[in-house]
Amino acid sequence: MSFARVEEVFKLNEGERVRLRGWVYNARVQGGLAFIDLRDSTGIVQVTIKKHELKNPPFESIVNELKREASLSLEGYVRHDPRAPNGVEILCESLEIIGKSEEYPIRKGVGTKFLLDHRHLYLRRQKFQAVLKIREKAVEAAEEWFRMNGFHLVHCPSFVIAACEGGATLFNVDYFGKVVHLTQSSQLYLEAAIFGLEKVYTIQPSFRAEKSKTKKHLTEFWHIEAEVAFATHEDIMNYEEDLVSYIVNKVVDESQKELELLGRQFEKPKRPFLRLTYAQAVELVNKKGIKMNFGDDFGTDAEKLIANSIDRPAFVMFFPVSTRAFYHMPNPEDPNLTLSSDLYAPGEGEITSGGQRIHDLDLLLRRLKEYNLNPEDYKWYIDLRRYGSVPHAGFGLGLERLVKWITGVNHIRNTVPFPRTPFRVYP
Ligand code: ATP
Ligand code: MN
Repeated sequence: MSFARVEEVFKLNEGERVRLRGWVYNARVQGGLAFIDLRDSTGIVQVTIKKHELKNPPFESIVNELKREASLSLEGYVRHDPRAPNGVEILCESLEIIGKSEEYPIRKGVGTKFLLDHRHLYLRRQKFQAVLKIREKAVEAAEEWFRMNGFHLVHCPSFVIAACEGGATLFNVDYFGKVVHLTQSSQLYLEAAIFGLEKVYTIQPSFRAEKSKTKKHLTEFWHIEAEVAFATHEDIMNYEEDLVSYIVNKVVDESQKELELLGRQFEKPKRPFLRLTYAQAVELVNKKGIKMNFGDDFGTDAEKLIANSIDRPAFVMFFPVSTRAFYHMPNPEDPNLTLSSDLYAPGEGEITSGGQRIHDLDLLLRRLKEYNLNPEDYKWYIDLRRYGSVPHAGFGLGLERLVKWITGVNHIRNTVPFPRTPFRVYP
């Protein structure tokens, strides 16, 4: 008889025989009786061991090994019992301890730092697994959406020379005696790829030396990025809206069990998404008492305020040139503004940035100068404007920001198995 998964036993009939394997989530021994909550990747089921019904090994020989996190395999039969969690228990007839467990260090009341130091063990927590399953579902949905919409996958390098998002958050790496950087975004490479493949995307890590301690920044995060030939800023907002809706709808439809486990009520966002200009957003922020000037970027409080005043995702459009990286296309209606936008998730804040890129050679050269960037480092990128340049646009969506929004976890580090933050690269 092959091993069943825990989730399957709840569909079995009274008396059906079953083999299971997994880990002890919890164990209680009362005289000749032991109750184990057995956990595998699909759920938790109660296993009852009665001294006289355990055929092998003798009850006494295992009873002291039924410790939290011990791994075991067992055979028994299904009993429907309304007192058991979910109405089912397994009456155990034979059991084998596969791996003993020492005193498990994660207990009620240990602090956040302790849990972060033991992230390699914390992964066993059911709620955390629910978040990881939702994250997986979001990636699956994104890949599906790109495929359905004619995008090609292009993997980009992580070691780079040209900065994409400004020098402040660049990581340096000793590359055989030469200093290179870890990529902040794959955008520049995706721009090169559109001249062959037209619609391209990637899902891979980006790195930012973020020094500030916030709940929404990692130093290594997974970046869902796309770039499209002949697309305008308007086109790219439509793509973003469609992609984000597709991902969120799929998670709500297919990860209901995980959302319930997290106690998360999450509703599919209404469409169309809201659209407000940067100027309108600044006005809103100022009206609610946070002082900011035209030309400033939104700080944490301003971002929160905007996020809390929307009932569905909202684009903030046309950021001033002063707030944006060198490659942004100026708005023909006001060259101090760019054809760019951030998508805000309600209650969460920025989850994407996107816009139209400069495709004119002379303007790009001028901008590089204005931003004090070395044209030598961008030679290949400049080249793209020399041979059949076309208007194009793209965006970047932070996977962890998206998952944080959907799951409602309190900190971005809880959306990723092994978070990288300014003060943590362990485990
Ligand atoms: P923010 O202003 O929120 O720090 P950003 O504007 O610097 O982000 P972009 O360059 O626009 O970031 O990157 C595109 C997307 O990548 C962001 O909208 C966000 O979802 C995600 N992202 C950026 N930086 C980080 C980070 N340090 N950790 C996690 N996600 C990030
Ligand atoms: Mn941004």
